[in-house]
Amino acid sequence: MASLNCALEISGLRKSYGGRSVISGIGFSVPAGACFGILGPNGAGKTTTLRCCLGLTPPDEGKILLGGHSIPDGACAARARVGVVPQFDNLDPDFTVNENLLVYSRYFGLKKAEMRQRIPGLLDFAGLTDKENARVEALSGGMKRRLTLARALVNDPDILFLDEPTTGLDPQARHLIWDRLKQLVAQGKTLILTTHFMEEAERLCERLIVLDHGQIVAEGNPHELIASQIEPNVIEIFGENAVAWAKARRALCQRLEIAGETAYFYCKDTAPVREALDKERALHSLHRAANLEDVFIKLTGRELRD
Ligand code: ADP
Repeated sequence: MASLNCALEISGLRKSYGGRSVISGIGFSVPAGACFGILGPNGAGKTTTLRCCLGLTPPDEGKILLGGHSIPDGACAARARVGVVPQFDNLDPDFTVNENLLVYSRYFGLKKAEMRQRIPGLLDFAGLTDKENARVEALSGGMKRRLTLARALVNDPDILFLDEPTTGLDPQARHLIWDRLKQLVAQGKTLILTTHFMEEAERLCERLIVLDHGQIVAEGNPHELIASQIEPNVIEIFGENAVAWAKARRALCQRLEIAGETAYFYCKDTAPVREALDKERALHSLHRAANLEDVFIKLTGRELRD
């Protein structure tokens, strides 16, 4: 039985490619009206999970309820109430901004007259009012992303899937997208997003999962995860012989991590490390609160994933 206050419910989801498991029996649920994050390193299974949810990739096993519809059988009905912002903009370069919205609305069987009424509002939301007759190729990267977001809203969806919505954008363009996504949540829409930007997840998501190797390695509210999974303070130390210096003072903190030439002291109390640092002139340090990126690195490691 579908829970009315759940936008998405997944249980026992499995998917293999060529005998290799890429989703290993995961389950989670997304409350309606929440912004929910799916985080994970490259290859963790984020896009495959999204594709299964949308009925684009058939799972090997598992149950998916999207907006109360069982996927993949009910994917068509579910997608009528869903918007998608794909990882790479796939706008039609031959059409203007306006035409891109019109053409896309036809997939939902929306009437041209109805769309003509709705388009000004969508363009205003996307900050593209003065670009309605511009060709897509004349738009900046940020404008294209905003147009893709506006396009995902043509059917006034209840649930929006966003696959890395701000990848490749500069900070100004990213902040503008964040602002718009917050507006959508304030309107009561459910957002399900994948991201590599921990700051993005920390700012936007009420709940998130961290996927690694097709498994959920953490789930919760970002601030609760920071409080429960990691020491509250970090002192980063770099400079001449910083790593050797840090290794010799391992006992001054709860946890020490080394990445390249930088040592990370994870501490409850920073005083012992700060006192030791006072005597050193050749070392540089940065004191900060632990953040979601620290949690992510602790859970998924520092090795590169390609
Ligand atoms: P993420 O989005 O977290 O980077 P993906 O879901 O795209 O991860 O991919 C998870 C794993 O599944 C990767 O190892 C990827 O190479 C593999 N994979 C994804 N799609 C296919 C496919 N169509 N055929 C074979 N392997 C795939």
